[in-house]
Amino acid sequence: MREWRRGLLLAAVVLVVHGPCLRFGYTWLDDHKLVAESIPLLRDPAFALEAFRDDVFLSSIGSGFYRPLMTLSFMPAAILSGAAPFLHHATSLLVHLAGVLLAWGLLRAMIGGRTAPLLAALLFAVHPAIAQAVAWIPGRNDSLMAVFLLISFLAFLRHRRDGKVSTLAMHLVAWLLALLTKETAIVLPLAGFAAAVASVWGWGFGWVDFGLLLGMYVLTALGITVGFHRLFTHKSFETSGAVRFVLAALGSMAVQGSVLRWVAQHRRHHRHSDTPDDPHSPHHRGRGLLGLVRGFWHAHIGWAFTPDPAGLDRYVADLKRLTSVRVASALFPLWIVLGLAIPAALGGVLTGSWAGALLGLLWGGLARVFLVHHVTWSVNSVCHLWGSRPYPEHDHSRNNWVFGVLAMGEGWHNNHHAFPTSARHGLRWWQLDVSYYVIRLLAWVGLAWKVRLPAPQLAVTA
Ligand SMILES: [Zn+2]
Ligand SMILES: [Zn+2]
Repeated sequence: MREWRRGLLLAAVVLVVHGPCLRFGYTWLDDHKLVAESIPLLRDPAFALEAFRDDVFLSSIGSGFYRPLMTLSFMPAAILSGAAPFLHHATSLLVHLAGVLLAWGLLRAMIGGRTAPLLAALLFAVHPAIAQAVAWIPGRNDSLMAVFLLISFLAFLRHRRDGKVSTLAMHLVAWLLALLTKETAIVLPLAGFAAAVASVWGWGFGWVDFGLLLGMYVLTALGITVGFHRLFTHKSFETSGAVRFVLAALGSMAVQGSVLRWVAQHRRHHRHSDTPDDPHSPHHRGRGLLGLVRGFWHAHIGWAFTPDPAGLDRYVADLKRLTSVRVASALFPLWIVLGLAIPAALGGVLTGSWAGALLGLLWGGLARVFLVHHVTWSVNSVCHLWGSRPYPEHDHSRNNWVFGVLAMGEGWHNNHHAFPTSARHGLRWWQLDVSYYVIRLLAWVGLAWKVRLPAPQLAVTA
């Protein structure tokens, strides 16, 4: 089979599998808000420039997304056929087809041969995860981002062969276009960078890197659990201004927002647990598997992109009166930089090399932030969905032993919702609760006092 015939086969498969979408109308919500209701805007050629300042995401739903190139991609169909959905769906189909052909080209360039690239491109063409990108019009941001990223990768491959500045520039421009389509494109150079480090320095992960990863993980996670959560949010013990400042700084290095904002959101979570006013409940997102997936996503990370409600500040009026907290909160950007610079410096000094500094930054900094993020977010998502409920009366919180261990005791989340001001979350002897042991240690050396526990008749403390 000649190459152009393989290309035609791919196009035919895309058309057969996704073609039925051409008959679809608009789905409610996003299709409607971003396309159907924005038609007058999208038909105005002047909006092409305006979209970079105020795209439809910002003007219609006021979300935190910035996706001007996707907005631009709505414009040709709107100008040609107005609100009729056919051309809008056809555009999504063509964008996906372009992505399939580019992916096929990239695979041929990278792994060579005929069968394997064709089969992989076929899988990409029909994979169910792609269906939403074609059927749901704003979902096209994923296919459009894929198109730009694939061009970016292809340009980089060519640059490795020819070494020209022009191919490198094309690589960077294509990545920039991807970034203007969807913010997620920002992680790809980072992933490529990690892969490059691994390939240049062997595995790129030695004992020093492991030590920096573990050390920074434990310190910054404790900043969140002992500091942000048990001390600042729930006042489960008292301590000195200096300890408060250090805990606020360590927690800030976990890059989950400043201490004041974090505490305000978490107090709101307890006030309205699993009701519609809860900032990150995995419930109330529809029924069935789809509702579960949407709920999980929202509770895990999606909620962080919703704007703060007005008056969030009133939840932290007490903390704002403490100078140590106010100053530490205002210095949030500095803590982020230090959280990256410290492991980099240690990596450099301990190995006596620039490569060691780079790996320290990668493992003790970036990879560590990633891990602490997902473990903390899992307390919001996983621990309101899966696990046991010895105290079922309050909300949907659960005790989940995996995150009891990984999140330094925070996974005993049903206990915590039952006794929010308790410094101890693991109420049974076998419920490992590292954060509580640290608080006990602080109390033992005289740095913490008035450590609060549930009344003994309420909790079963075997
Ligand atoms: Zn909770
Ligand atoms: Zn809490």
